[in-house]
Amino acid sequence: MLKKTIAQLDPYIPETPLADLEKETGVAKITRLSANENPFGTSPAVKQAIQNFDFTTTRLYPDGDANALRQAVAVKLSVDPEQLLFGCGLDEVIELTARTFLEVGDEVVEPWPTFGEYKLHCQIEGANIVDVPVLDDGTFDLQGLIAAITPKTKLMWLCNPNNPTGTYMPLADLRNLLKQVPKHVLVMIDEAYMEFVTQENGSAIQLLNEFDNIVVMRTFSKIYGLAAMRVGYAIIPKALISAMQAVRLPYNLNSVSQVAALAALKDTTFVAGMRQKVATARDQFERFFDQAGITYDQSQANFIFFKAPQVNDLHQYLLQHGYLLRNGLKPGWLRLTFGSSDENAAIQALMNRFYATK
Ligand SMILES: *Cc1c(COP(=O)(O)O)cnc(C)c1O
Repeated sequence: MLKKTIAQLDPYIPETPLADLEKETGVAKITRLSANENPFGTSPAVKQAIQNFDFTTTRLYPDGDANALRQAVAVKLSVDPEQLLFGCGLDEVIELTARTFLEVGDEVVEPWPTFGEYKLHCQIEGANIVDVPVLDDGTFDLQGLIAAITPKTKLMWLCNPNNPTGTYMPLADLRNLLKQVPKHVLVMIDEAYMEFVTQENGSAIQLLNEFDNIVVMRTFSKIYGLAAMRVGYAIIPKALISAMQAVRLPYNLNSVSQVAALAALKDTTFVAGMRQKVATARDQFERFFDQAGITYDQSQANFIFFKAPQVNDLHQYLLQHGYLLRNGLKPGWLRLTFGSSDENAAIQALMNRFYATK
């Protein structure tokens, strides 16, 4: 009965609700540092906007074009509002991309490790994924990515900064790579973490006028701290936008989410504060890992990927002491979302204690 492609699918496992996990483990309070959520919450302007939401409109379908949000995002990024496609989270944009472009037997190129949803949705469509392992320092193998392209390749996924490695590909490298990608390949550039980058202004939005086979994707879930509201979007080439809009569900973005995202977008002070706090945490963890002799990838995101001796024991130890990290993305490695400075200090103390007794 099932589609062939679904029978052997490796599903994306969502995070267990914290209350359930606390019950399961018997740990009184668990802080989740496994999902790259914002430990500092959400802009207070969002709370205000939701409180002001006009409840007489709940019986009406939402604005299917998310017009207020669309205009605001377009102005902020200096892009054509017509080129914006909104999704119920960036997850939906990823699904929509696979649904719109892929047929059975098509090929898709991605670095490995990277965000698991790309592969999942490509597999559902029956496409073949070509994983190109990252280099020893976690950065993309640019030559390998180009070499993996064949006449059958339809899509290339590039997450920048990459999840889970956190590594950042400078704009100049991206431009060089794109120059070598044939025009029949659509390059999906996932910038879920771009707002955390402090190294340079590296958004591929600056390349939209140079290449008509690139899509840039963003989300409100990470730096804006709005994961619960499910708002992501992409800037789509003009030649492709109407096809993608036709595949999209007409009311995919609910009214409250539209209001919340608009308020979040306007609070630039909140975002700037997050960028600063995360940059500080990054520096601090790099120093900590250097001192501890622990290998890590150079991150420009709100998380860090490190090679943890006795990885499963450490993961379990931290969980028992109230901190959930992400295990299983690459054997021997853990991904840690930066927490508040107190949480970060507590984790470092726990890791010191764990390794001192080993
Ligand atoms: C979190 C994440 C997303 C999904 O974001 P949502 O908008 O919450 O669906 C997409 N891409 C990457 C790389 C992510 O880490």
